[in-house]
Amino acid sequence: MVEVVRKSIKSLRLVVYRATGKVRIAVPLRVSEAEVRQVVTARLDWIRQQQDKFALQVKPAPLEYVTGEVHPFQGRHYHLNVIEQIGTPRVILHEDHLEMRVRPNSELAQRAAVLAAWYRAQLQAQIPALIAHWQPIMGVQVAEWRIKHMKTKWGTCNTRVHRIWLNLELAIFPLACLEYVVVHEMTHLLEPSHNARFKALMDQFMPLWREYKKELNKGVRM
Ligand SMILES: [Zn+2]
Repeated sequence: MVEVVRKSIKSLRLVVYRATGKVRIAVPLRVSEAEVRQVVTARLDWIRQQQDKFALQVKPAPLEYVTGEVHPFQGRHYHLNVIEQIGTPRVILHEDHLEMRVRPNSELAQRAAVLAAWYRAQLQAQIPALIAHWQPIMGVQVAEWRIKHMKTKWGTCNTRVHRIWLNLELAIFPLACLEYVVVHEMTHLLEPSHNARFKALMDQFMPLWREYKKELNKGVRM
């Protein structure tokens, strides 16, 4: 499958993406459909060569944040549709894909930052309701919460100041997993250590917590 993008450029540009093997051709506005087909046909051997070469590479390709690449969000996988445009970069969640609008010629690190900021914004929108829901049930108060990218922990709780940290990567797991970590950290406000009492409290609040924990531990990392 070839993605054709029309732009005000001077010459045709053909790209085979390393991550997906998909082909994208940027064409000047004046070039006709027939001419585009001709060019693609003429370069078919080269395209197949590139795709084979990329497919043979053993290690998983690093994320490139390009159209067609798959990215997870809350337990589902979405194909990325990257649109280059002037203006504030943003991400829009559609039924079956993630639309990412970035500045023309933005670099990989910038695209990655746009998606990370979007993940963060999604968590920021969801966490307050979760905390508000669980506070009266558990009889605890969270004074402050923050989101941070952590390498080894899903969350932490400072029981002295009632502050909770939540891992940014929770955005890629089902919402129930985020809720499990929120409840886990809030339970520390009742019981600081992971002892029998802590587990009994978790069983009482969230009987399926072990399932969510399992899901997190087998999950991919960003
Ligand atoms: Zn804990």
